[in-house]
Amino acid sequence: MSKLSLRSRLFLSHLIVMGVGIVTLAGIGRFYSPRIFVVTLERIETYSFSVRQVKTQLLRGFELAWTRGMIWSVLLGGSAAGGLSYWVSRRIIRPLDQMEEVTRQFASGQFSERVPDSDIPEIQRLALSFNRMASDLEGVEQRRRELVGDLTHELRTPLTIVKGYLEGLADETVAPSADLYQRLAHEMSRLQRLVNDLQELSRLEAGYLPVQLQPVHLEPLLANLVQRFSDQLTEDDPLKFELSCPTSLPAVKADPERIEQILVNLLGNALRYTERGTITVSAYTEPGKVWMAVQDTGVGIAAEDLPYVFERFWRADRSRDRTSGGTGVGLTICRRLVEIQGGQIEVESQPGQGSEFRFWLPPA
Ligand code: ADP
Repeated sequence: MSKLSLRSRLFLSHLIVMGVGIVTLAGIGRFYSPRIFVVTLERIETYSFSVRQVKTQLLRGFELAWTRGMIWSVLLGGSAAGGLSYWVSRRIIRPLDQMEEVTRQFASGQFSERVPDSDIPEIQRLALSFNRMASDLEGVEQRRRELVGDLTHELRTPLTIVKGYLEGLADETVAPSADLYQRLAHEMSRLQRLVNDLQELSRLEAGYLPVQLQPVHLEPLLANLVQRFSDQLTEDDPLKFELSCPTSLPAVKADPERIEQILVNLLGNALRYTERGTITVSAYTEPGKVWMAVQDTGVGIAAEDLPYVFERFWRADRSRDRTSGGTGVGLTICRRLVEIQGGQIEVESQPGQGSEFRFWLPPA
């Protein structure tokens, strides 16, 4: 019994219900109806009318009529009810079979299949959540494919460059020089950075990166960062860092290490894309939000590029940034870091005038 399919169970349960109905009907008919018939005959006899001679024939006739009627009812009613029950079971089971088929196709990599609508509300609900799960899986698979595609693309360039140099060195078409080894080392560190960034991003996306939310006072943290970045500049650099942060700024509920990681990324970008002028770090408050912003006077980002800056591997000018060592993953990491701390990040930029990256975190 435990191995019976749902369809057989449904069908069988209909048959059992029908069987019980028939047995009850036949049983009552068989034992109760003749008795009523006899009582009726006896009542007729009290009106001084004798049916004694024909009583046996009448009874036999009644029984014959009743049995024939019963056989036909069982045959016709039984097959009609059986057919109907088979049809109903099939209708209930079909969407479930379709779901099974769709999962099988999913397993073989066809992610576009969906379960059709059903007019049975419970099954429709199941189909809806099944289809929702299917769309989510399709999205995950799509992102996985994109990631592998992007990754191979990103890895191929430094690998080709390094391979070219090494082959040149091996067959002595390229002369070994300090400059050449430096270029090789540069490509290697790009690869290393890419691998580190990706590891960080995958940890973030899988939710493995621990965040310890606690009240954080921003002023000392920001001052320390600005100091560290200013120290990298020389006296006659046409660039300077500035901090604008009110001392009365409320604390935020965040992980200080993660805030620092975000700001180091934003400041590093600002430094990379700004030749002269000022890079300003500021913080201010709004009801329910504490904002931090990094504003630069650098190359800026074109309006049509702005929607993509937070996307993985996106770089405004691939060839230029490749030599500058960017991986296009930094801002993706920043956005995830801001989001897991319950905030949001946004960007505003004017090409040729500068950019402002700002994000908010909830107050403590
Ligand atoms: P990367 O490691 O290449 O800097 P990011 O994700 O940090 O990667 O940045 C993505 C792209 O956004 C950069 O390649 C650059 O084109 C653009 N970008 C980021 N920050 C700035 C900025 N402050 N000024 C101008 N362009 C920027």
